[in-house]
Amino acid sequence: MDLVGIIPTGKVWGLILRDLILDSKTLFEKAGKKLMIDILTERPCPLPRLAYDKDLRKYRVEGFYLQAFDIKSEVERLHNISIDKVLVLTDVDICDPPCMNGFGFSDAVNRMFAIVSIFKLEKGASETVLRDRLVKEAAHELGHTYGLDHCAKSICPMSDSPSTLEIDQKAKEFCPRCTEMLSDSGYGRYWGV
Ligand SMILES: [Zn+2]
Ligand SMILES: [Zn+2]
Repeated sequence: MDLVGIIPTGKVWGLILRDLILDSKTLFEKAGKKLMIDILTERPCPLPRLAYDKDLRKYRVEGFYLQAFDIKSEVERLHNISIDKVLVLTDVDICDPPCMNGFGFSDAVNRMFAIVSIFKLEKGASETVLRDRLVKEAAHELGHTYGLDHCAKSICPMSDSPSTLEIDQKAKEFCPRCTEMLSDSGYGRYWGV
């Protein structure tokens, strides 16, 4: 079973984390992927200062990945465990140039880190809507770390979402194709092995 560590930065704390953990476990379990999800820090981390780009007036995701790498290594060393994926949460406007607008990103190199910001997700959202948007976006970015690409089915969390409208139309469940790619038992057919 994979261990996903959550690192909250900025003002993301409290019930929103508890709900995200519960909802994410359920969403991935429906796809046949059992995850252990835990918060890696005792309190929210300060925003990584180096991540802020004065010219862009946004935070670059690499700074968050570097901070997350340090925290992950430290927790692994202290507790003698291995963390498979890290999900960073934040409340500031993030970018990954050349992509300047996104609700979340994931690192394409190591497929280890995913990041989601509530900065745009919380605009005009009730508590329930924000909760739903957050779990769908987290599933999308974590899905990328598991090798999933964008999905053509607009109802699937792996479909592209230029705005929150598209996110709100998604289900909290991967489509059959993505489920098959994701599930612990079903890789072969799609990976061509
Ligand atoms: Zn994507
Ligand atoms: Zn899909």
